[in-house]
Amino acid sequence: MAKEKKLSPKFGAYGGQFVPETLVPALTELEAAYIHYRDDAEFQEEFAQLMSTYVGRPTPLTYAARLTEECGGAKIYLKREDLAHSGAHKINNALGQALLAKRMGKKRIIAETGAGQHGVASATVCALLGLDCVVYMGTVDMARQAPNVQRMKLLGAEVRGVESGSKTLKDAVNEAIRDWVTNVSDTYYLLGSALGPHPYPTMVRDFQKVIGREAKEQILAAEGQLPDTIIACVGGGSNAIGIFHEFVDDEHVALIGVEAGGTGMESGQHAARFADSKVGRPGVLHGCYTFVLQDDDGQIALTHSISAGLDYAAIGPEHTHLRELERAHYTYAKDDEALDAFQLLSRLEGILPALESSHAIAEATKKAAKMPKDSIIVVNLSGRGDKDLDTVLKALGREN
Ligand SMILES: *Cc1c(COP(=O)(O)O)cnc(C)c1O
Repeated sequence: MAKEKKLSPKFGAYGGQFVPETLVPALTELEAAYIHYRDDAEFQEEFAQLMSTYVGRPTPLTYAARLTEECGGAKIYLKREDLAHSGAHKINNALGQALLAKRMGKKRIIAETGAGQHGVASATVCALLGLDCVVYMGTVDMARQAPNVQRMKLLGAEVRGVESGSKTLKDAVNEAIRDWVTNVSDTYYLLGSALGPHPYPTMVRDFQKVIGREAKEQILAAEGQLPDTIIACVGGGSNAIGIFHEFVDDEHVALIGVEAGGTGMESGQHAARFADSKVGRPGVLHGCYTFVLQDDDGQIALTHSISAGLDYAAIGPEHTHLRELERAHYTYAKDDEALDAFQLLSRLEGILPALESSHAIAEATKKAAKMPKDSIIVVNLSGRGDKDLDTVLKALGREN
């Protein structure tokens, strides 16, 4: 790579590269390639072209008239990432990274997945670009998300079950990292959120920032002004940082991230890294220094959420930084609130939201009611809810 430029590995005190030494050359190669192609007109053109003709961008910004009326306050708009190909925002990042892998000459892609959404997005873009795809997934998650396992297989990916630890997402990430260390010369690790060691948090944010860029243009066209508030759910943090980024310098626009409150803070069954200060504090997980749910010895805590995509013990480092700066604020919605929001949006707007996105809808309904009628909220509707039907029907006691 010709350019010597380096990206900052940190967001304030957070981020960094806490990895075994065997991975440092791979991360250095990745950073150099990313810096190069980020400014490469041909790369950006191919990315933009596929974002339009394959992913279906720009996704619409929909005014939720009936939800607005129901809440009785701020106008609520929905940024429709549920309409992106494969049903969520994850494809934006998967496509960007797969194109990068191809330019780097890597023929084999590995990815981790919890609920299967990132695995499906990775398998999708690998099929599109003719790359081999191996997806690591905990066996507990494979049982819970059987249709997504079938989808990945139909798309030509190999799904490798992970039997270690809690047999869920964090164990799948461990296995993916192990694979990468072993096969680093021909393998590209396609990480699914704004997490992990530098340069992933920056790179994933950059591939997702199209969400905010489009949303800003669309709300200006619809209302002639910026929104008062933007709300997004936060798992690892990629859809949230994707919509926030374009607005960070617009200081009068409030940015609100919504974590998974599970069955409540007292229960300990949640993934609220910021809200529960008993277990959420700075630490290292999967190569990154950020807020992590952990016990007194620093062992990673088990998490719970009705939505698999928010069920992770760490949050992206840029969010931790934005929170410290008080530029973004974070709250949580509980399982039952997300479930109510899922039903509300389905009935009032004809949109089945992903359970992850339902957390953001839940917060929007609370907030909107307290805001004046001429104010504006934009909610990032990160994905569609078809994948969650089983979970929702079970939770509602309507399995038959
Ligand atoms: C994976 C997922 C999330 C959570 O991931 P982030 O990186 O925090 O965006 C949210 N919504 C949907 C629909 C997802 O599939």
